[in-house]
Amino acid sequence: MINYRLNGPASQERQRIRVMAALRENRFPQAILIDGPAGIGKKALAMEIAKALQCTDGNERPCGHCFGCKMASDPGVTDNWVFPMEAKEVQTRSADSVSAGSTARTIQDIKQEYIEQIVANPYRIDIFSAGGEISVNLIRTMTGSFAMKGDRVRVVIVAEADRMNDSAANAFLKTLEEVPPDTYFILTVSSRDRLLQTIRSRCLALHLLPLSDAEVREETLRMLGPDADEESVTGDVIGLAVGSPGKALYYVEHARELCALASDFIVKSLRNDYSELFEALAKAGLDEVAEANGFLEVLSFLVSDIMRRESGAPLRLPDTMAKLDMDAFPRIDATALEIALATVQETMSRIASRRTAPMMCLQSLAIKLFEGSK
Ligand SMILES: [Zn+2]
Repeated sequence: MINYRLNGPASQERQRIRVMAALRENRFPQAILIDGPAGIGKKALAMEIAKALQCTDGNERPCGHCFGCKMASDPGVTDNWVFPMEAKEVQTRSADSVSAGSTARTIQDIKQEYIEQIVANPYRIDIFSAGGEISVNLIRTMTGSFAMKGDRVRVVIVAEADRMNDSAANAFLKTLEEVPPDTYFILTVSSRDRLLQTIRSRCLALHLLPLSDAEVREETLRMLGPDADEESVTGDVIGLAVGSPGKALYYVEHARELCALASDFIVKSLRNDYSELFEALAKAGLDEVAEANGFLEVLSFLVSDIMRRESGAPLRLPDTMAKLDMDAFPRIDATALEIALATVQETMSRIASRRTAPMMCLQSLAIKLFEGSK
């Protein structure tokens, strides 16, 4: 009997055991949907499964050195991947329409560059551009390549599958209704709900869990490389990451600045010191939806931490909280803090709806935040 052994963090062993059992018992479904928060390693697991399915070793799978395993981790095999791309990238000419010897950049070259980044670090949350989507052309190119598949097993990873537009989702649904033999699909999404119900119902659901704080620290330091400063993975970084090494990697760069601004936001809002605060917000460059809401996420952690300190619960932002002197202000009661937290979350939805400029929303939040307790 063939032994299947998928690698990954201990926190996700239970999900891997389910997959390994299905592989061993030869009942692996033709499509699975891996969901879970951003940056926890959904693509890493997808690549492990792809290797195991394509591996031809008679004893251990994935063996890591057979042709199937090599194909599964080769960024040059671009037909095995679908992910969001920008419209101008999708319009780039295909390799088969460029004359031999041409040095023109093709859509395959662009895809290969993305795949190289994924293979190098599958936890990263900033690989695909925010403006990209999975268009119907990308689905058709993928299904078009099935004719050349031959008789080997083939696994297609559809990353961020919830970013399929409507026509892409319909085209993909047709593919799922009649999956070619020896072909498997692995979809990854941060939010299952954003995916068409008819697609979801045709996939086995695999819910991947966040990592432990210790694993996040370990994976983040590994990604940062041997010269990484251990101090850069602070308590605040681990707290904000909530089990996601991909997010931790982002916060290694941004936590200090965002936490200082969030702290300033609370202090200045309590003091009604708006002109300086508005200036600081403008300087921080929070004019875009993603940046403004990224900041508000940190602010909501800080408001929650003020509530947690009151109740003696463990803090998410220990470094920032150590510096924030709330005793300098009249005590804010639990109800006012709950209202403040809800107001931050309302502001995030308001910004996401794109009806009001992010900066205006932030300014009105500063005024409203502790309105009831002043
Ligand atoms: Zn192999």
